[in-house]
Amino acid sequence: SLSDRLQATMKKIRGRGKVSENDVKQMTREIRLALLEADVNFKVVKSFVKSVQERAIGQDVMKSLTPGQQIIKVVQEELTELMGGEQTKLNLALKPPTVLLFVGLQGAGKTTSAAKLANYIRKTHNKKPLMIAADIYRPAAIKQLQTLGGQLNIPVFSLGDQVSPVEIVRQGMEQARADHHDLILIDTAGRLHIDEGLMEELDQIKAVSHPDEIFLVVDAMTGQDAVNVATSFNERLDLTGVIMTKLDGDTRGGAALSIRSVTGTPIKFVGMGEKMDALEPFHPDRMASRILGMGDVLSLIEKAQATIDEEKAQDMQQKLLSASFTLDDFLDQIGQIRNMGPLEDLLAMMPGANKFKGMKNMQVDEKKIGQIEAIIRSMTSQEKNDPDIINAGRKKRIALGSGTSVADVNRLLKQFKDMKKMMKQFMGKTKGKKRNPFNL
Ligand code: GDP
Ligand code: MG
Repeated sequence: SLSDRLQATMKKIRGRGKVSENDVKQMTREIRLALLEADVNFKVVKSFVKSVQERAIGQDVMKSLTPGQQIIKVVQEELTELMGGEQTKLNLALKPPTVLLFVGLQGAGKTTSAAKLANYIRKTHNKKPLMIAADIYRPAAIKQLQTLGGQLNIPVFSLGDQVSPVEIVRQGMEQARADHHDLILIDTAGRLHIDEGLMEELDQIKAVSHPDEIFLVVDAMTGQDAVNVATSFNERLDLTGVIMTKLDGDTRGGAALSIRSVTGTPIKFVGMGEKMDALEPFHPDRMASRILGMGDVLSLIEKAQATIDEEKAQDMQQKLLSASFTLDDFLDQIGQIRNMGPLEDLLAMMPGANKFKGMKNMQVDEKKIGQIEAIIRSMTSQEKNDPDIINAGRKKRIALGSGTSVADVNRLLKQFKDMKKMMKQFMGKTKGKKRNPFNL
């Protein structure tokens, strides 16, 4: 793969104390081959190699104490630059709703990415999304979006497959306004190749929806083709961003490197799997480091934060429902999130929980997590399973054992009780209720 090739090249020079002009030339030759083999656009490769060479042979590197490392840094920086330099932020409307339009070829991952992004933005920006099903051509396309919406508890607007996509979008926008959705995601049809009919339809959808972002969804596995597709769509629709999917697969990675410099359109998100949480903001510098095998600690940390084992979350939900959620489970959860972030983040991951108004009161100060742990650990298992038996005497003992005060113990017990009550109320509300199309 591209990474393997580049890493092998980098290894040769990493520890070198001295690097000659010849070494640099040989190294850039190898980089050039590696990039071409990875299906990076040849023009892109040419200018890339040129900048690396200029900078590497320049004064900075040759005078440096560890030229080998300096060169790696140069390559890393140039790769980052190639992919757009800075991370490009999502464009949210100043005046809601924010409208996101998803376009691309069939099978690229539009429907999946729309649902993933709806879920992501709901979590990160606390939005109320509505997805519009405007692919009336692909069999079961509407059903697919509805299924994903159902999983994520995100409503889907559909008028079946007998109404034109433009009309569906028009009415969907009206519905979204009426229901105060501040985030609208429009899933559109794709074709096997770009054709005039598809483009015309997308033009019209664009005209009625005034999107804040037009995302081209491309499959990373298609390599150089992805770049051609991006060029065509961009000429016609003025794309604002690219979502590159299936980067988890065995891709040659070339598309990620050339798409920005060929089309001028930044990659904003990458799909890393089929699951609904497998979507990440695209960071050019991290991608460059990953390609060069320099490790990617930041991404890993971010991933750990975003990935709470789905099974565990469901298990917890089940326990809350059946009122068998104990302080031990609470402690378990705290342990899990200790290094991951505030408790509200964990709660926000439970389906629908982020809509719950009472959430703010249950925020746990991260600094206090240690204290909470200490308090719970100072309880007997009987107390943990049935906190109601914790009387004044027991509270004093627990406070002493955990190095806290009775007030701290009281606060924790109240928090735990409130949390249980609120979750039960919330679950009771959604449970058993038939979902109407807008999930009201
Ligand atoms: P659409 O035709 O553009 O709407 O594409 P879909 O959203 O239906 O996706 C096509 C297939 O690709 C589905 O099986 C998805 O699960 C899969 N897919 C989408 N994104 C990713 C990704 O990032 N990684 C992997 N491995 N599969 C993906
Ligand atoms: Mg689709």
